[in-house]
Amino acid sequence: MTPRPKFAAAARPALADTALRRALADTAADARARRAAAVAELPDWPALRAAGRAVKDRTLLNLDACLERLERAVVDAGGTVHWAENAAQAARTVVRLAAAAGAGEVAAPAASVLEEIGLDGALTAAGIAVHRTGADAEFPAGARVAVTGVDLMVAETGTMVALERAGDVRRCLTVPDALITVAGLEQVVPDRADLEVLLQSVSRSAGERLAPVVSAWTGVVAGDGPAAFHLVLVDNGRTRALADEVGRAALRCVGCDACLHVCPVYERTGPEPYGAPHAGPIGAIRTPQLRGVASAANASLPFASTLCGACADVCPVEIDIPEVLVRLRGKVVDARRGRPVPTPELAMMRAAAWTLTDPHRYEAALRGGTRWARLLARGGRIRRLPGRLGVWTDARDLPVPPARSFRVWWRDRGERP
Ligand code: SF4
Repeated sequence: MTPRPKFAAAARPALADTALRRALADTAADARARRAAAVAELPDWPALRAAGRAVKDRTLLNLDACLERLERAVVDAGGTVHWAENAAQAARTVVRLAAAAGAGEVAAPAASVLEEIGLDGALTAAGIAVHRTGADAEFPAGARVAVTGVDLMVAETGTMVALERAGDVRRCLTVPDALITVAGLEQVVPDRADLEVLLQSVSRSAGERLAPVVSAWTGVVAGDGPAAFHLVLVDNGRTRALADEVGRAALRCVGCDACLHVCPVYERTGPEPYGAPHAGPIGAIRTPQLRGVASAANASLPFASTLCGACADVCPVEIDIPEVLVRLRGKVVDARRGRPVPTPELAMMRAAAWTLTDPHRYEAALRGGTRWARLLARGGRIRRLPGRLGVWTDARDLPVPPARSFRVWWRDRGERP
């Protein structure tokens, strides 16, 4: 399999596609306006954000107990819980359950957790056809098993909750014989009061007073809906992320997508360059956290940001995404330090550190750099720097430095440097 390219390379086709960029800008503007209107109706929005954050933090700090409580409640309600350490194990579990139910076809509405575990590929490899249910589609006639994601799970009652626009998950709660729900460990909340807080903040953040279709299901009810219910709980790097004091904030995410629509990078590139299943600012922190920074593609994601902070301002559970991005950038740089041959960037940074930590070296470099830069200038701008420095001028001009630096001007005034 060809490795996924780094973010900058993967973004090039989107950046060159004017129609796509216009469509992304229109979608983002519409989403921002809808969110702003929905949030403005609430006088206590800041308090609701703080409450959402508190719910998620409290849950994450007691995640083990909360999940055990959830398991007991699901089993008491007639369901079965399966634990999956990684994506492959989760996909295998779903395939085994679907095959045991005699399914040649399954209905599986799109969900990021299903994409995360590579479910389509696993089912297809096992000879099971996958149907997406669409807004106007009938439920596929041959599908006796449905596989869904979920937005929130309530440990107190074992209830699964899905928030949707089209009602694809809702259709899966009635027709099939067996229902398999796949969820990340962090999607649990302790009780119904916590659910109430997040239902409001997620819906408002997504630009609605309440999501158009809210479905809730608990275990198995005789004569009503699927006769079997399975919950597959996926770790896949989440407990490792939980150990990171700063990075664990990413597990607060409730998937409202508000941060995507305020991100100046996402607005220009769209979702593709981030790789599946998470895009935008949350994808830039979640993917490297769950999958590590060993691959060049994942290591490039924390740098796909201007650090403007707009994502942190809108997040309904107050995730400080820029703080996590900076921490992840540090991890990437630390991982590269041990290489026998430094990357060009690291070599440049080392040279810069050597120069900037000594006033004499700094002044000599400033004088030489100014002379050299002024020679390259045309019409008051430097349009192309030579060698690898040309990456900087690929997308922007460089202003010409003044002939007299601030330090020289300051000294000429008789001040001490
Ligand atoms: S990180 Fe983004 S998608 Fe997740 S809750 Fe915050 S704003 Fe929503």
